[in-house]
Amino acid sequence: MDTKSYVNKLIENVKIKNPGETEFHATIKEVLTSLIPLLEKEPKYIEEGVLERIVEPERQIMFRVPWVDDNGKIQVNRGFRIEFNSAIGPYKGGLRFHPTVNLSIIKFLGFEQIFKNSLTGLPIGGGKGGSDFDPKGKSDREIMRFCQSFMNELYRHIGENTDVPAGDIGVGGREIGYLFGQYKKLKNSFDSGVLTGKGIPYGGSLARTEATGYGLVYFVDEMLKDKDLSFEGKTVVVSGSGNVATYAIQKVQELGGLVVACSDSTGYVYDENGINLNTLKEIKEVQRKRISEYTKYHYTAKFVEGSQNIWTIPCDIALPCATQNEINIDAAKTLVKNGVIAVGEGANMPSTLEAIDVFLENKVLFAPAKASNAGGVAVSALEMSQNSMRLAWSFEEVDERLKNIMKNIYNNSKNAAETYGFEGNLVVGSNIAGFKKVADAMLAQGII
Ligand code: NDP
Repeated sequence: MDTKSYVNKLIENVKIKNPGETEFHATIKEVLTSLIPLLEKEPKYIEEGVLERIVEPERQIMFRVPWVDDNGKIQVNRGFRIEFNSAIGPYKGGLRFHPTVNLSIIKFLGFEQIFKNSLTGLPIGGGKGGSDFDPKGKSDREIMRFCQSFMNELYRHIGENTDVPAGDIGVGGREIGYLFGQYKKLKNSFDSGVLTGKGIPYGGSLARTEATGYGLVYFVDEMLKDKDLSFEGKTVVVSGSGNVATYAIQKVQELGGLVVACSDSTGYVYDENGINLNTLKEIKEVQRKRISEYTKYHYTAKFVEGSQNIWTIPCDIALPCATQNEINIDAAKTLVKNGVIAVGEGANMPSTLEAIDVFLENKVLFAPAKASNAGGVAVSALEMSQNSMRLAWSFEEVDERLKNIMKNIYNNSKNAAETYGFEGNLVVGSNIAGFKKVADAMLAQGII
């Protein structure tokens, strides 16, 4: 059987074995298909069954999370932790609290995380977790009780050398604090390296909060520089207004770009003068309110319902930083029609496979998530290093390391793409570069 047929058959088998898991199927298809040029040159990965092993998580944990709301009513959510691959280090990946969370989404994120973590050059394996709990509208005490109940089960599966969770959508500093507190109480041990994204007073790293957004912009900046371009004077649209979006906006502004729009799940705001970051942070980080509030502070800005419409705004650079599948084929065509020159994925899988094809066919500079948003997990790994050394680096030191890591990821992905005949295609390049290191470690460690 030729390599392409072998890979297609494997993709079909994954679909049969994991019915209904559409997000997981999509990522398997994206990654495995782009590995074909490598597999043709190096058949050992097929002969040793690396692909069949890598698509199967090492361990999948699902559990009940019961908690009591402020009205004394019992609520039950479902918790997940997918320990996908530990070939190059302890499982590492965020926790997502969002009503849409299900097994498929956590598996897709966990699978992507394997390669993303490998690309950082740091010793971290791949994992992901979360719950279908919706933090919106919950009181602080409800969030605390939920996090404590979640940790009552999770604690037995994690550890600084085993599995190190972090934040993701719906899990920020507040949630990590409650999770860490409960872990410490249950274990009677201050294992600071067991969670990352911690507050600075108890083992967090400076620049972790900013890392994913900053890292994304550092990556896109490298990609632009390669074409003698820069952010200076460019019009930029950023979707989302959470952690990744906020710090992407901040860095773009520092580099001279004009961010004219951002969004949340209700719609987007357009401000031709440039999004005011202080207002955005006040609304989202302090008041935890809807993005439409922005127009109360800036009368010339407008709010448009329907977050999807943000991609109709003409821009030079698009940075999707909200959620998966937010750029479909139509949105991609609109962006191209409006002259977009670069798209950098801050969120995980924000572009559908069809949308990515549109960007590549039209020679748009395209930064795929697993490479361009790896800055967050990279600084998480730096947080683990600081914890184990019982040291704290300055903001500048961490930021400098982040910058270098993003530059290396860009160069490694670019070079891998060139080596295997896909010059300029960072989707193929990042998948091959990320896969090779993990696969070689798996080969060395035997059939386990
Ligand atoms: P946050 O919870 O901080 O923010 C998510 C943002 O996206 C919110 O503004 C949310 O709006 C918005 N959003 C959610 N769904 C939609 C939608 N359908 N349309 C428009 N906006 C939407 O999460 P993060 O910023 O941490 O994560 C964003 C993305 O980045 C995710 O894909 C995550 O996996 C990825 N990522 C995050 C990393 C990190 O370090 N935080 C690291 C690597 C990747 P609302 O408040 O209305 O829900």
